[in-house]
Amino acid sequence: MFRLAATGSQDFQMRSPKIKTMTTTRERALALAQRFRKVYPDAHCELDFTNPLQLLIATILSAQCTDKRVNMVTPALFKKYPDARAFAKARPATFENEIRSTGFFRSKTRSILGACQAIVSKHAGKVPNSMEELCALPGVGRKTANVVLGNAFEKNEGIVVDTHVIRLSQRFRLTKNSDAEKIERDLMKIVPRRDWTLWSHWLIWHGRRRCFARKPDCVNCEVFALCPSGRIFLRTGEAKKA
Ligand code: SF4
Repeated sequence: MFRLAATGSQDFQMRSPKIKTMTTTRERALALAQRFRKVYPDAHCELDFTNPLQLLIATILSAQCTDKRVNMVTPALFKKYPDARAFAKARPATFENEIRSTGFFRSKTRSILGACQAIVSKHAGKVPNSMEELCALPGVGRKTANVVLGNAFEKNEGIVVDTHVIRLSQRFRLTKNSDAEKIERDLMKIVPRRDWTLWSHWLIWHGRRRCFARKPDCVNCEVFALCPSGRIFLRTGEAKKA
């Protein structure tokens, strides 16, 4: 009986490579989550904020800009504009100057002032806490909504996929896609939901500290044993030298 069952299982796996790959991928994601939890016990959003509105603004400002630069701009901004009504009434030309150093200041001004005007007119000045309502705000896409939901409302509705998450998910062979929304869907199938927000922090932290876009530090990597790319990068010289 046991022999038959075991043989059946092997045959099934041989005939169903997709299922075999999925199992392996899910196992790798689980092992990575276990390891990252120990390596980065304090992983968190590196944008400074004290409420959902501030996080929404900071996240819009962080597009094509470093968190460090955003954190230099936001203290004065949050002091001058304490709530959505204040942002909604800001003069666009003045606001553009105030956020100029974060880059793309015209489109960011349109997004921030437009989002705040909608928050005032449709949500009584409070940032909504659903994916649908957040994505309906001007200039707010799924990635920004995921940041706000996960970090300000502690809701795991999706996974933030930025440039680090894309690069590391590919290096870990957790996805074959390059489109952010497809990668998010792939990750949501294999990463436990309770870890969706942390997962992005872990990959972003690792991407900033170890798994650089150019010359990743594979020799010192804490998850080398779980990464199918590390050995290849060492062999081809793509990794940083020891
Ligand atoms: S082994 Fe190299 S490629 Fe893999 S996660 Fe570590 S640094 Fe990145």
